[in-house]
Order: sequence, then C-alpha cells, then structure tokens
Amino acid sequence: MINDNRPEPFIADTLQRPLRDLRISVTDRCNLRCSYCMPREIFGKDFVFLPRAELLSFEEIVRLAGVFLQLGVHKIRLTGGEPLLRHGVEDLIAALAGLRSSENQPIEIALTTNGLLLSRKAQALKDAGLARLTVSLDGLSEETFRRLSDSQASVATVLEGIAAAQRVGLTPIKVNMVVKRGVNEHEIIPLVRHFRHTGIILRFIEFMDVGTSNGWRMDDVVTASEILETIGQHYPLQAVDANYPGEVAKRWSFTDGGGEIGVIASVTQAFCHECSRIRLATDGKLYTCLFAAQGVDLRDPLRHNASDEALSRLIVDTWGRRSDRYSQLRHAATEAPRRKIEMSYIGG
Ligand code: SAM
Ligand code: SF4
Ligand code: SF4
Repeated sequence: MINDNRPEPFIADTLQRPLRDLRISVTDRCNLRCSYCMPREIFGKDFVFLPRAELLSFEEIVRLAGVFLQLGVHKIRLTGGEPLLRHGVEDLIAALAGLRSSENQPIEIALTTNGLLLSRKAQALKDAGLARLTVSLDGLSEETFRRLSDSQASVATVLEGIAAAQRVGLTPIKVNMVVKRGVNEHEIIPLVRHFRHTGIILRFIEFMDVGTSNGWRMDDVVTASEILETIGQHYPLQAVDANYPGEVAKRWSFTDGGGEIGVIASVTQAFCHECSRIRLATDGKLYTCLFAAQGVDLRDPLRHNASDEALSRLIVDTWGRRSDRYSQLRHAATEAPRRKIEMSYIGG
C-alpha cells in the first residue's frame, strides 16, 4: 500500500497507477445489436448468454464494492450489456449509494445506458441516488440509428428517455456517440445542433477494436482531430481545462456560449498512462483492461466464504501485477491478433 499525498490511500500497479474507478457490468444482455459491439452474426438467437446463477447477485456486488472502496475506489459506474435490463437495478444503485469511501465520504454512482428504458426508469434511478447518467446515441436520424443498432428501436424513444431524465433532475447528462467512418460521421453535426444550448454534454468516442467480433480496422476510426475539425467548421470551439487530473474526455466549449462537448481519443491519443479503472464482469471476473484476454475470478471465493481481507488481497495482487497499456501498444498488438473479451460482457 502506498500513498501519494492525496486524501485517500490507494494501491498502485506496476506503472504506479492508482486504482480509483470501478465499472460493474450488471448484465451481458442487450436490447440492441450495435454492429460495433454485439453484431447479430455473433450475438444472434443462438448465442448463449450467462444463466442467472452465474450472475453476481446484488448482495455479492455490494459486498465486493465495499471491498473496492476500502482500496481507494471512489467512483462506481454500472454498465453492461444494457444495465436497465437487469431487473431491479435501482435497488442495486440504492444499496451502492449507501456505501462510503475509505474516507467515510459518499461515493459517486454513475450509469451508462442506451436509453431505451429510461423514460420508465428515470424517476426510480433518481430516487435511488444515481448521481451521473450517460446515454449512448450514435445518430439522430432513425435510419442511421436502426442500421447501427440493428434493431427496430427508435431515436425518439431515446430522446424521450433523455427528456424524462432531465425532468426528474438526473443532471448533468452526457450523451456518447461512437463515430465510425462511412457509417455515421454525417450525424456529428445534427447531434451537435440538437444538443447545443440544452446543458447536455455530447461526447465523441473513437471507434475501438474491443473484443474480436466487430471487425475493427484503423481506417474505420474517425479521429478526434477530424471530429473537432468538422464541428469547428460549423461552430467555433475553444479548449476547456479538465475537471480533474486524468479525465479521459478532452473538453471543448462553443465560443458562442452554446455549451460544451467532449472528445475521447481512445485510439489516437491513448490515455493508458493514467488509466485507473478496473472492471467487474457480470459473472464476477475481474479485468484490469478493456482489452484483457483473461480475468481473475472473484465469484468463486465469494461463494466459498472468503473473508473481506482475502478478497481484498486478491484484488491488491491483481492490481499490483497490472502492466496493461493496450491502446499505447495497439499497433504492435493488432499485427498479431489475439482473443479479447467482448465489450458487452465486460462493460464499456
Ligand atoms: N448498453 C449501454 C450503452 O450502450 O450505453 C452500456 C454498455 S456499452 C458497452 C458502453 C459504451 O461502450 C457505449 O457508449 C458504447 O457506445 C461504447 N462502445 C461499445 N463498443 C465500442 C467500440 N467498439 N468502440 C467504442 N465504443 C464502444
Ligand atoms: Fe448494447 Fe450498449 Fe453494446 Fe449497443 S453498445 S449493443 S446498446 S451494450
Ligand atoms: Fe486502460 Fe487498457 Fe484502455 Fe489503456 S487500453 S486506457 S490500460 S483500459
């Protein structure tokens, strides 16, 4: 255990990166089939999702979260799959929101969703204590949305969900758009136009080679600088300071006061050097990188009466061995493809 003069204690990996953020995937299922994440050829009707008994229960998740908090984690994000498909997810949020950091401070619970079930759930999420909400939306036209999400779902439903979240005060809301060349870069400006002056922060994400099923090629990536240039031609931008050290989205504001956007250059400007995230998959496996091939099982010890100290040791050992920096090494790595876990299983 080391300390860097920050208020909370933290554990460090081999590159001296602290453990700060925990992402928990609460389901591997989804009601969309985004081509870059769960292509239907693979996640079709014959795909076998995890049986219920293999999912961590809410009690198990809360117990593990408590152990992570004692190790310096101060932010928890729920993801998936589609987290709003997990029955009673608001009860989990309420239980997590009741936990305290190692400094006995309230912690921040965030959630990333495709927004389809949001109008129904917004009030319950707010009441449960959800602090931050991110909605994914890759286009404003129904045609692009249906093609990208490979579904009959409607953009209107997502927009209604966002409006409901605003109404109940689940703010500030962020909207994430993954940009893939030849597929949806023409949606950048319509989305910018739509969300300017609304207080909603639109963020653009470079398409990543997560998993092995989305057929990623570097040519498909619309780079952060291209995105900024496109937006800047319509709406001049100026850089804004980061909210906190290590913030992954680079912030920009419209010079005319129309609000703020963010750009996440996960491919062209990798941020591995300050990556402080760990991911708990739906079945209790722990991954130290989005691009990891193997996880460490926490469910088995959890179900065989491991003490908090034993679970804590397992996490400390796993983080202590961590040397991941896949995105910084991507070019070398993609020359020799290897099996990686899927985004829908580990959570984005
Ligand atoms: N279903 C929820 C949603 O879509 O917001 C939560 C899970 S999803 C895996 C989390 C985020 O990962 C989404 O914003 C999605 O756009 C992003 N994502 C998935 N695959 C990606 C890829 N190949 N490159 C970049 N972002 C990706
Ligand atoms: Fe589902 Fe989210 Fe993946 Fe799209 S990005 S398939 S909504 S998990
Ligand atoms: Fe973190 Fe791995 Fe992404 Fe690098 S590639 S930023 S280590 S999750």
